Amino acid sequence: HNHIDHATPEKVLAAIHKQDTHAHIPSYETLETYRAEGGYAELLKLRESGDWEAVQAQVAASGLRGLGGAGFPSGRKWGFVRAHPGPRYMAVNGDEGEPGTFKDRHYLERQPHVFLEGMLIAAWAVEAERCFIYMRDEYPAVLEILRREIAALEGAGIVDTGFIELRRGAGAYICGEESAMLESIEGKRGLPRHRPPFVAEVGLFGRPTLVHNVETLYWLSKIVRHGPEVLSGTEKNGRKGLRSFSVSGRVKRPGVHLLPAGSTMQDIIEAAGGMLDGHTFKAYQPGGPSAGLLPASMADIPMDFDMLQKYGTFIGSAAIVVLSDRDSARAAALNMLRFFEDESCGQCTPCRVGCGKAVKLMQADRWDTGLLEELCQTMADASICGLGQAAPNPIRLTMKHFPDEV
Ligand code: SF4
Repeated sequence: HNHIDHATPEKVLAAIHKQDTHAHIPSYETLETYRAEGGYAELLKLRESGDWEAVQAQVAASGLRGLGGAGFPSGRKWGFVRAHPGPRYMAVNGDEGEPGTFKDRHYLERQPHVFLEGMLIAAWAVEAERCFIYMRDEYPAVLEILRREIAALEGAGIVDTGFIELRRGAGAYICGEESAMLESIEGKRGLPRHRPPFVAEVGLFGRPTLVHNVETLYWLSKIVRHGPEVLSGTEKNGRKGLRSFSVSGRVKRPGVHLLPAGSTMQDIIEAAGGMLDGHTFKAYQPGGPSAGLLPASMADIPMDFDMLQKYGTFIGSAAIVVLSDRDSARAAALNMLRFFEDESCGQCTPCRVGCGKAVKLMQADRWDTGLLEELCQTMADASICGLGQAAPNPIRLTMKHFPDEV
């Protein structure tokens, strides 16, 4: 039985384009239900007689910031993109590859049209000619839901056929980096670009491009419909707004927990049902591996963009991983660096070589902290993109907060 299935170009292409029809599709809000409750009325009104600057002002009043990790005030991008002549494009970052992050999936599997309306409002605000959604391919249900609902939007005449293009990500972490994502959409290898020029000026196919994360657009839709107070109305520890924390690790109820932006780790663990029985809270990853680890003694910091910067880390996409006394901070940091070594695109030396060197140094019985710090400095200063620049965070924070382990 030496049957060989020869791979013809047609078969390869068919395999690439094969749609996963076996995905379990959760019950979600369809176009019909969404419209029955007033969905898309705001979009249609804006298209009729809207003022983009008024919407931008609403977004600014809400305090919405980019929820993919960088935390840039959302509405401000629109002005940058509009400053350059069309045709302009919009690209949605749905790659969600940050380990521990699953909030975009959470919203898309429940209310895809809240997101889609937000996307169409942003596209309207910058007069984009087309929208590209770059969606994580490891989310087959989300892809299927979006395929169905984009077709429904076309059928209902809310968008022209082909205006929204759904692209499947290729499973590379680096393609969540905005410029690498654009390269990937263009059909090239996902290598981050040098900046300037910024994507607002030279983005997709060389055109001015607006890039937003899925969750950012979800909230944009809510702000336009319910007013800026939907976010700014919540205040805690001097911080306004809400944050969707993806919580995993040693807690009783892992999942997406929507909490005030000023919440602390104590609040988050409480919302997640507390620690698992027999586990004592030891450390936490505050925002994906790029944010490294903080000790339990720092559980009273409001988990917000600026406040975490003070401690050499950041909230990023709010991917919280809770570690207990049964976990090793050192092993967790090594795991993070192994991840970066695997996912480095290899374009620049400080990151490509640096991640590999760091892994080797971190495998030693005792860490050579002086050498590791030199390596960290080089990677942070000289890497092209955020991956290499942030990869030292787990090393530095582990040396600082868990010196006994290293
Ligand atoms: Fe690629 Fe790393 Fe350089 Fe970023 S920092 S461009 S991921 S090699």
